[in-house]
Amino acid sequence: MKQIVTIGGGIAGIEASTTLAQMGYDVTIIEKDKNTGGKMNEWNVLFPNERPATEITDYLYKKINNSNLHILTGTTISKATRKPNGSYSLLTDKNEKLHADTILISTGFEPFDATKKEEYGYSIYENVITSVDLENMLRKGQPILTSKGKKPKRIAFIHCVGSRDAKCGNKYCSRVCCVTGIKQAIECSRQLPDSEMFCFYLDIRMFGLEWEKLYQSAQEEYNVQFIRGRMSEACENQDESLIIKAEDTLSGLPLKMKVDLIVLLVGITPGKGTKDMASMFSLEREENGFLHIDDPHFGKNYSSKKGVFITGTCVGPMTVDETLENARSAAVEIDNYLTKIK
Ligand code: SF4
Repeated sequence: MKQIVTIGGGIAGIEASTTLAQMGYDVTIIEKDKNTGGKMNEWNVLFPNERPATEITDYLYKKINNSNLHILTGTTISKATRKPNGSYSLLTDKNEKLHADTILISTGFEPFDATKKEEYGYSIYENVITSVDLENMLRKGQPILTSKGKKPKRIAFIHCVGSRDAKCGNKYCSRVCCVTGIKQAIECSRQLPDSEMFCFYLDIRMFGLEWEKLYQSAQEEYNVQFIRGRMSEACENQDESLIIKAEDTLSGLPLKMKVDLIVLLVGITPGKGTKDMASMFSLEREENGFLHIDDPHFGKNYSSKKGVFITGTCVGPMTVDETLENARSAAVEIDNYLTKIK
């Protein structure tokens, strides 16, 4: 039976691996964390239909129950040796030896580290949080309160934090943060119907078919207000409320606004293990740190190294449904590859 080792047990790694196990391959997932599921474990509900994130993990965990599939959590690969036929001998940090006829890399993403935008005050001012922090609060059912335990009267959502920003080295659009911010503004508005929500944006990029409806509903049903302009800085008043300084790029006028809570919509950056795996398997990376894909039309799951496949957000920002589709296509490509080699 041909053996596959998947590095990364987030949703892409699990979807591809369970599909391959169902096809009859022997698959081992190596996951550095204690649990599989990756970032999906931290989300509350997904856009555009507010599906609980647990439905995705439940679906994946049901598929895990397959005797062809082995999962090693809390484990990393410490050495990889390529054989002349393109297969690999692997050694884990726990001294386990594995053979892999092919490798699948699915090292996922990390949210942009908002402390790098010091002028926005994250980890300096208590009432500046990120979209990941807010999602965690919503998932745990925590009330949205300021540091003084009061209901925020005004919440500002700041788009493109760590994306489309040459100053922090990330020139690309993270694709999912406009819709995440609008979804979260709606959730906050439901919980705080007397509060005002403001989105500070560069452009609104709602490319999914149902996403535009969400954008309309945010404006028409929840009175979320959209201001075109990038926040230049945030500063704190003595009462721990915040002042946002920005330029309204539609009117061309500078703008100052007092708010009680700022939510930074942080972008997607390459996962921690991506750089290490690129160097271990001699894979090319793009300038932005994501793994290079061999062909944008015909080889989306092919890395720059024959026999090493790639899937999920280690190649760039993706939605959850795109990630699952990309994982299934990786399984098909690996099956094609393995049926051709002896
Ligand atoms: S999806 Fe929206 S918020 Fe995210 S980087 Fe693109 S334009 Fe900015």
